[in-house]
Amino acid sequence: MLLPEQLPMNKKVTYLLILLLTFGHWLVAQELDKCGHDLLLENALERDPAVVDRMAAVETFTQEWIANQANRPAQTREIITIPVVVHVLWNEPSEDISNLQIYSQIGILNEDFRMRNENINEIPDDFKALAVDVGFEFCLATLTPEGDLTDGITRTQTDWPCIGDFNTSTESGIPRLFYSILGGQDAWDPRRYLNIWVAPTCNAFLGFGFNPGQSVSPQEDGVVLDTDYFGNVCNDGRNHHLGRTTTHEIGHYFNLKHIWGTKGCEEEDDFVEDTPRQDNFHLGCPTHPSESCGSADMFMNFMDYTDDACISMFTIGQKNRMLAAINGPRSGLLNSNRCLFINRPRPDLGITVFPNPVGDCIHVEFNANFENDVTVLLYDSSGKLIYETINNASNIRSIPADGLPPGVYYLHLTNGSTKVTEQILVRDAK
Ligand SMILES: [Zn+2]
Repeated sequence: MLLPEQLPMNKKVTYLLILLLTFGHWLVAQELDKCGHDLLLENALERDPAVVDRMAAVETFTQEWIANQANRPAQTREIITIPVVVHVLWNEPSEDISNLQIYSQIGILNEDFRMRNENINEIPDDFKALAVDVGFEFCLATLTPEGDLTDGITRTQTDWPCIGDFNTSTESGIPRLFYSILGGQDAWDPRRYLNIWVAPTCNAFLGFGFNPGQSVSPQEDGVVLDTDYFGNVCNDGRNHHLGRTTTHEIGHYFNLKHIWGTKGCEEEDDFVEDTPRQDNFHLGCPTHPSESCGSADMFMNFMDYTDDACISMFTIGQKNRMLAAINGPRSGLLNSNRCLFINRPRPDLGITVFPNPVGDCIHVEFNANFENDVTVLLYDSSGKLIYETINNASNIRSIPADGLPPGVYYLHLTNGSTKVTEQILVRDAK
């Protein structure tokens, strides 16, 4: 395997070009490897040539961490909770997406990174043993950087209609998206939150995720998704409508490359041993086996460009890279404590949910915002409805929770035009 530090300087520049062209991972709707790549390359090179050294250092750390991991005792199956803040940028009111669309995306991430996705059964037999539960769960932040309560969502109206596209930048090439003063939204402390910007890109691309060290500034570090491809509520028959572009981009955020690496069988691969060598990306929904470079391609991997409905797995080798990232350049997320679940009144919502994390029961007390009958819906982290009742708002409602698996849940309460959602945590009884 050729590592960046072993390359002479002139080849380092080539490496940067290849890295950005190939791993730049702009998912462009029509021409997947064209305008977005050029735009990113131009933007990064002009603004910060040090990107290449930062990414090389991350790669060296990653390789060493994985090598050392082989000598360590088997890890416990610890679940790592990733605090997320979603920044919604909108120019047209229709782009100010609903909370439900955001929750649907968090649910999809919690399926895909925990191997709970329904299409896991479609993995071909020869790849089944490689599919893995990454062990990451995603939680909308409950605390702001200042320690105030939050629902983990910011909403910003902007004068820039295509602010998700890097073309919407200042004359010196700074993308407006990432800066409040330029019409976008500032990141929350990128060491402690996974920042996700959801913004119209005007069909420039579907999504974009930064490898560790790739962003020009920490304030631009995170993941960007086009408004129409975030979550799974925009099901209009397109091929990337199931929220898996976000899964793919967060794979990049945790240092995964595209599964084909650099195009061509003799070029750089994806630095993952258990993904077969592949000469290019796939579009649509191929039939297995689809062969290149002398073996069947793993086109059902989340890091290919295959349709959302036909991608279903990360591998053990990819998980190792993601674990290296969370124990290295992304380690600030581990002790972030921005996703605390606390027993708190929510006068802003008109309810009090207690305790949180919940014990045997979830108790809901209704305040003045609610009158008469309230519809109470409880969803699990993958968006499945698991409890439904109608309750008189004058009473405290108690929902039994002792049979629920540990994890994140969403409690939706609706009463006429009043709709609120509270994020709750069920802890393991042990
Ligand atoms: Zn990509």
